[in-house]
Parts: sequence; structure tokens; C-alpha cells
Amino acid sequence: MSELHSRHRAVLPSWMPLYYESPLEITGGKGSRVTDAEGSSYLDFFTGIVTNMLGYDVAEVREAVEAQIATGVAHTSTLYLIRHQVELAEQIAELSGIPDAKVFFTNSGTEANETALLLATHARGSDEVLALRGSYHGRSFGTVAVTGNRAWKNSSLSPLNVHYLHGTDHASPAFRHMSDREYIDACVADLRDVLATASPKVACMIAEPVQGVNGFQMPPDGLLGAYKEVLDEHGILMISDEVQTGWGRTGTGFFGIDNHGVTPDAMTFAKGLGNGFAIGGVVARGDLMDGLPALGVATFGGNPVSTAAARATLKYVLDHDLQSNALRQGTTLLDGILALRELDSVKDVRGKGLMFAIEMADPATGAPSPALAGQVLEAARERGLLVGKGGLQGNVLRMAPPLTLSDADAAEGRDILLDAV
Ligand code: PLP
Repeated sequence: MSELHSRHRAVLPSWMPLYYESPLEITGGKGSRVTDAEGSSYLDFFTGIVTNMLGYDVAEVREAVEAQIATGVAHTSTLYLIRHQVELAEQIAELSGIPDAKVFFTNSGTEANETALLLATHARGSDEVLALRGSYHGRSFGTVAVTGNRAWKNSSLSPLNVHYLHGTDHASPAFRHMSDREYIDACVADLRDVLATASPKVACMIAEPVQGVNGFQMPPDGLLGAYKEVLDEHGILMISDEVQTGWGRTGTGFFGIDNHGVTPDAMTFAKGLGNGFAIGGVVARGDLMDGLPALGVATFGGNPVSTAAARATLKYVLDHDLQSNALRQGTTLLDGILALRELDSVKDVRGKGLMFAIEMADPATGAPSPALAGQVLEAARERGLLVGKGGLQGNVLRMAPPLTLSDADAAEGRDILLDAV
């Protein structure tokens, strides 16, 4: 164990996962590549957990942040006007498509979801919430409550009454004989059953358009739209958790929910927006946002540095039409690795834009194999590629390269993956 590794073990919580038997210390980065403390170079297909969406050391972002810091004001608080914050809010409100939208900035996805749940439960005067099985929404009390996998909950106590719905278990024995249309109909029938037995007032549904931590599990396109039709009959609000899927990542929409043909009442975001600078937030219908009696300030939320970084990041994404690059590179990459499905050790290969996954299984039993996923993670690192892990059982390899991915880097990543698996 390296000296830094043992010091880490001594003072950081044992439940914080640390990748690799010999953990990496990343000390440099440029474009799609990082270098470690020993001077090895890696192509990064996990980008700080789906966060450095422009890659590393992006001049436009660095210059925007440096210009803000050069004013001497890294922080002022939201008690004062912050130009970058107002401009960013205007831009996100417009991009969201939500009518009369307002934006509240936080520092993380967890806080964003917590805020959205506060908005919805307050607006409806109810603590009943709908969420999808297998979901992950954060680490705080409310977001843990709606998270759909017991293994990711740090508390069994819940401030919310949560009903879990289907959405990403299309391949399970109960549903695998169904077409997408039949599966959507079955999900909607289940929602109607849940609403018939839930207390008269349900506040909201919260859902990820592609489940991130759950191994890039995808509800069939249109499912969330079909859910929303039913929710609208009851005045139940829909929150789309775009923490992993926002800003063009899925290729087919600027937000993941665009794949479902519907505009939600609120969206939450974080991760990619600041290209590594901590920023998150909620964009919601203005009446919902203004309806909260007094949430007050988030001291750091929307601070001048993070909003400067976010303005520059969004500008880059839009100027370079990175959504189209995500679609093009993602489609080619997925085509390039689909043949892995033929292996007994691979249960599934799937993707949407630049989020794609390989699900590992025990070749003898077909059971999910976290051990094999761990071996592939190590094998990819040995060959110079960083990927992520996820899934209910930890058996899914997750790839989320920067949206700026070049043809050459995409081809190199594909070849390493094929070899490592
Ligand atoms: N929502 C989703 C979909 C996520 O994937 C995550 C983090 O992985 C969160 C919320 C929580 O975000 P954060 O880690 O920034 O608090």
C-alpha cells in the first residue's frame, strides 16, 4: 500500500469506494487524458464520475475562472447581485423549456434534488413521492429516501413516504417477453394501481431519464412521457434528475427527458455544468420556486467562480454542438463494442449518446459478476483506459467520455475495451 493510500485509509470513511487495488493519484490532465503521480497516462472514459464533460484543462473555462479570481472576488454570497449567476439562470431557464422557469443554484446534485423535493412536497402539501426502482438521487436524508436501491441508502429512516415504480427492469423475467410499448403500458397500469392505493395526494415523481449509478439502465423512450400523462390527471409534479444526463450527454436531447417527449415541472442538474467546478441547481416552474416560504440562501450556491465556469462550459457545449458529437461518437462506439454480447461473460451492452455500459456475468451461471467487472476495470487501466463501475450489484462497467471526444480517442478507447473485456 502506498504511503498516501494508507493515510487515506486512516482518515477517510471506510465506506467511500476507492477504485483499483493500487489506487490512482491523478496529478495532471489535458483533453481526454490524465496522468498519475507515477507519470502514466490514461484516456479517461469516466471523467470524474461523468463530470469533466469538456475534458481537462479547457482554456475557455480556465480563462473565465481566472478572470473572475483576478477581480479578487471568489465569493460574495447570494445576498448581493452576481452577474454570472443571473446570466446563467437566464440561459438555463430558456434551455429547460419549462414555462416561466426560475433557477436556484446549489453546490451538488444531492442538494439540487433535496431542494426539488422540498419544492414539490411543499407545493402539494404531501410527503408521498413516486420514484423508480434502482434509482440514485444523492446522500442527504430526502434524496436517500427516494433512492431505489437499499445498498445505496445510508439510513433506513425516511422523511418521505415513497412508492417505487418500474422503468428499467424491462429485461427481468416478468417483462422480458414484452415489446417496449407493452412494457410502457404495464408500467403505466402499475402506476395507476399505486395511485389507487396511495393516500389521495401524491406530491411528485422523481426519475433519472437514464439511471446513472444503476449502470446506465435506460427506460424505453417515451416512458416518462406516458407517466406524466397520468400524473397530470392528478396534479402530481414531475422532477427529472438530469445530474448525469443533462447538457447533451445522451445525444438525442439537450436534457435526458427530451427522449421521453415531455417537459417536466422541474429539472435538477450538477456534475458536468461547471466542468469540474462545484455547481448544481434546480430549474422549476416559477410558481413552484416562488411558492416555498423561505429557503433562504445557499452560501456558496451560484458563487461567482462556479457560475463563471458554468457560463464558459455551456457556451463551449453550444458553440461546438457537443450534443451532436455525443450522438455520433456514442453511436459509433456502441456499434464497435456490440459484438461483446456474444461472450458468455457479457450479459448486456447498451448505450445512449456518450453514456454506455457493459454488464458482466459469470459465464457458468449467468449471474451478475462484480468480480469480473473489477477485473476488466483493472485490465483497462493496465492498457491505459479509465472506466467506471455501477449497477445494483456492481457488475456494470460504465463509460462516460468527455463530450469533446475525438475520433482517434474514441477508436483507442474502443480497442482497449474490446481487449480488456
Ligand atoms: N443524482 C444523480 C442521478 C446522480 O448520479 C448523483 C451522483 O452521482 C446525484 C444525484 C448526487 O449528486 P452529487 O454527488 O453531486 O451530490
